[in-house]
Amino acid sequence: MTYSQADVLSAFDHFERNWGELQRSRHAACTMCLTEFSPQEVTKLYRFEEGIAYEQPLSGALGTDTARCPKCDLPYVVGDAELPVTTPGYLNAVHKHWHT
Ligand SMILES: [Zn+2]
Repeated sequence: MTYSQADVLSAFDHFERNWGELQRSRHAACTMCLTEFSPQEVTKLYRFEEGIAYEQPLSGALGTDTARCPKCDLPYVVGDAELPVTTPGYLNAVHKHWHT
């Protein structure tokens, strides 16, 4: 399995409002610190309202809330439901494109 440049570019669209997508994923990762984890390890979320990020507890979370990395706390988490997260090289390519 390989990934395309389009997969790298589209990762940006999955950083926010991804809680529903993560619940459909078996594997997740942070594109900032490159830690890989199970979606169940995500315990902190943001809810964005009018451009402001509010802390959102898991209870009452909506599919449109945004996951935060269990290690570095940042909202740059992706899941394998729609992205080739487990493909070798993909996370590094996303990191390089969007975070450097
Ligand atoms: Zn992280």
